[in-house]
Amino acid sequence: MRRSLLLLSAGLTLLSTGLASAQNNTPRNLILFIPDGLRALKVNPDTAPAMAEVRDKGVNFKNPHSLFPTFTMANGSAMSTGHYLGDTGVFSNTIWTGYTSVPAGNTVVPFIENDEVLGDIDEHFGGNYLNEDTILKMARDKGYSTAALGKHGPTYQFDHTDKPEKAGLHSIVFDDATGGRHGVALSDEVKDALTKAGLPTATPPRGDNSKAGDAKTPGTTVANVAQQAYFADVAAKVVLPMFKARNKPFVLVFWSRDPDGSQHNTGDSLNQIKPGINGPTSMAGIKNADNNLAQLRRALDELGLTASTNIIVSADHGFSTISKESKTSASAKVDYDDTPKDFLPMGFLALDLAKALDLPLFDPNDKNAKVEGNKHPKAGNGVLGKDPEKPDLVVATNGGSDLVYLPNKKLAEKTIKALLQQDYVSGLFVEDSLGRFPGTLPLSRINLHGKAATPTPSIVVNFRSYASDCGEAPTNSSVQVADTVLRQGQGMHGSFSRGDTMNFMAAIGPDFKAGFVDELPVSNADVGMTAARLMGLRATQKGDLVGRVMSEAMPNGTVPKAYVGTLKSKPAEGGLTTVLNFQRIGSQRYFDAAGFPGRTLGLEQDAGKQKTAGK
Ligand SMILES: [Zn+2]
Repeated sequence: MRRSLLLLSAGLTLLSTGLASAQNNTPRNLILFIPDGLRALKVNPDTAPAMAEVRDKGVNFKNPHSLFPTFTMANGSAMSTGHYLGDTGVFSNTIWTGYTSVPAGNTVVPFIENDEVLGDIDEHFGGNYLNEDTILKMARDKGYSTAALGKHGPTYQFDHTDKPEKAGLHSIVFDDATGGRHGVALSDEVKDALTKAGLPTATPPRGDNSKAGDAKTPGTTVANVAQQAYFADVAAKVVLPMFKARNKPFVLVFWSRDPDGSQHNTGDSLNQIKPGINGPTSMAGIKNADNNLAQLRRALDELGLTASTNIIVSADHGFSTISKESKTSASAKVDYDDTPKDFLPMGFLALDLAKALDLPLFDPNDKNAKVEGNKHPKAGNGVLGKDPEKPDLVVATNGGSDLVYLPNKKLAEKTIKALLQQDYVSGLFVEDSLGRFPGTLPLSRINLHGKAATPTPSIVVNFRSYASDCGEAPTNSSVQVADTVLRQGQGMHGSFSRGDTMNFMAAIGPDFKAGFVDELPVSNADVGMTAARLMGLRATQKGDLVGRVMSEAMPNGTVPKAYVGTLKSKPAEGGLTTVLNFQRIGSQRYFDAAGFPGRTLGLEQDAGKQKTAGK
């Protein structure tokens, strides 16, 4: 009783101060810098001096959270709207949309890191597939200058609803597609400024950094330097000077593909767990992102904008080294042309489910061709059932976790039973409307059940993770089973490992405390909410799965109380239990790690038990 009263009062205090500060707020400029896939504890003055400086001189968010499934578009949707994924509907990077997306390659399971695909999905879901307004759109509606530069997909997602060809109705966007047929058009003002600055009007390609290699050829050994130097030059030499000249507040989003791209494709560790994503290529990727941040801060200094500009740095997710090992998977016992013997093939989840459920498997990335013999689905995705046009089950393959959709709900129990048999599974989350199943937790418990416009997955399957003995902090040594074309020893994310949920987060600027260590839990949904508050933006919210303003990091801001807790499912036959470690501030929950005990890095059986018992 006493505990619930305490919680209630903490929540109320937070609300009232929040309103007061919004009224008194003078809008300043904001730079949101996203070092894609940067692990919190990889940052130090040697590896990433600019990041370390923002963290150490500004706010060090020591208790950060990427949202599960820990993927790019999903966390981008949270940062751009302030909502959890149950509201934004961006459950991963590849989702089942329930219709055939032509620009995605005629598939029902589009990979959505693509402007043209996002436009197509928006059109299908009433003009805004996120179902919530983005901070960039709200900011430009309010008269701010707005721009988003960087990685294809999450960059455009920050301002994706108005047709870019309508001049004046859109943020300035530079991404991989700029200058190409499907790139967001540049205004004459921007083109002239590019010419004056001696910069091309098209984004250079990634070059060798895009080389993923294969089972016999190592991937890249270089960071994404040239492409990102272009984005940083455009920001520093064109966009920021233009915004300064307009003499009104601005928001600039910079989405650095590194270290993500270099960690994914790393050629340092072919088929070996070590050094995995702690090799020189990954470190070069971290340094590359850091150099971009340093260049933006120098530009702010030179333009006299430092004192009026807040900077939030938030990685979308952490990272793990890929394992392809399983003793239970039937698919790992088949020989494939492109997969080392005894390793899991790409698409192992679809293959294993097709076998366990005795259903035909078709490839939605290969014109629904039947997958037979020693073949695996081309992109890992699968549609299962007699008729691929009307599947019983769909697997959307992503990496450290996969999504299962059940157009035929009757398959739920059998599917869960099959998943519980696999040693690579660690934690199952089931859509609430399907009922309760021992060994699993409902999707609502991890904020994946909300007002999403896109179909909500039936089962979210988390994969096993553990710490390698590489000698670094456990969250820097995360290894995970991943459903991906990438190889053992390369990099992936998406799981409920603390290595994947522990993203780098820091902030600096006039509205943030200086030299402050924030011990409270914060998340990428909080980043969106805090950005909106800093700019005085008010969204008309459809869903209520929202982040909170990180008030404790602001001068005179409220410092709320946080609680630690653990949630456990009923044990399945055989004893497997999905355990969830969370923290809570008011009614808002933060998710640290989840899975079957012993199969998820950072998962504790009874976290918070002592604390709650003592209250
Ligand atoms: Zn990412």
